[in-house]
Amino acid sequence: MKAITVEPKKPGSARYEDFPEPEENEGSVLVEAVAVGVCGTDVEIVAGKYGWAPPGKTRLVLGHESLGRVIDPGPRSSLKPGDLVVGIVRRPDPVPCPNCAVGEWDMCTNGQYTERGIKEIHGFMSQRWRSEPEYLIKVDPSLGILGVLLEPMTVITKALEQVYLAGQRSFWEPRTALVTGAGPIGLLAALRLRANNLEVHVLDRADTGPKPDLVHALGGTYHTGSALDLDFDPDIIVECTGVGSVIGDSIQKVGSGGIICLTGIGAGGVGAGAVADVAAAVVLKNNLIVGSVNANKRHWYRAGQNLARSDREWLSRLITRREKPENFQQALVRQPNDVKTIIQFSEV
Ligand SMILES: [Zn+2]
Repeated sequence: MKAITVEPKKPGSARYEDFPEPEENEGSVLVEAVAVGVCGTDVEIVAGKYGWAPPGKTRLVLGHESLGRVIDPGPRSSLKPGDLVVGIVRRPDPVPCPNCAVGEWDMCTNGQYTERGIKEIHGFMSQRWRSEPEYLIKVDPSLGILGVLLEPMTVITKALEQVYLAGQRSFWEPRTALVTGAGPIGLLAALRLRANNLEVHVLDRADTGPKPDLVHALGGTYHTGSALDLDFDPDIIVECTGVGSVIGDSIQKVGSGGIICLTGIGAGGVGAGAVADVAAAVVLKNNLIVGSVNANKRHWYRAGQNLARSDREWLSRLITRREKPENFQQALVRQPNDVKTIIQFSEV
């Protein structure tokens, strides 16, 4: 079969190549790839900044935002041939830490977890892949290709769970939400916050392309510029850029008792002098800043339900580009109007 593989930490080593069929010990369910979403993590791995091959191997199959069709359900799953499934990305660490021991591998405390397509387990950018049934989520068949959005939806399902759990620390009636960054995660956050009946505002640099219309279609308000210029103080901010200045502005702008959830990963930014100003704002307004990464099975299950309930036409507008596997290099280069690019291996 063919696969998109990379030698981790070696820039320029990615290629679409002949690769051995998945090994039986990779799982009892055999799946045919339909599509795999591309995200910034894939770009970083291909650039040699990140990633680990499986033990004893030099190359890693890339890809963690999967959608596939069951070929062989194996002896111990309730799946049927033809079912659409998505593979869970993270596996608990082998120690395990207390969180992994209870299935909350997204909260792993020792960092020894593994992740498909990222850390020590092959990903999903191969014509066929295997999984154990407990790490597969069956997708509502009416979603079709939109099932490839399930992994990004898990990220936001967990992040909003964290926000609402944190909100229980006091009497809290959030009415307004700001999302910074209108990429796939930010737009899915806006979708879910609207579903929770909040007044939703989205801030991004882009003033053209599909993003403003996608926000308007949800009944949200689209902004460019600084969060500091908004004429309201948000009760919830979901930060999806990882940009230091955007994070700093968000923390200073959030309303009294408000909660900021950080989901973006960046580097550098706000200097040491500004940290005290930001901290003072947090203290004086009783704010809470919560970081959120990855998702456990509860979030995957709920994300599947959330995706199935969402407007198909709106979701389909998030997939702005489809590339063939042999053109994966083009898929990894961001174009101005991209929201989510997918690599399509077969028809749904
Ligand atoms: Zn752990």
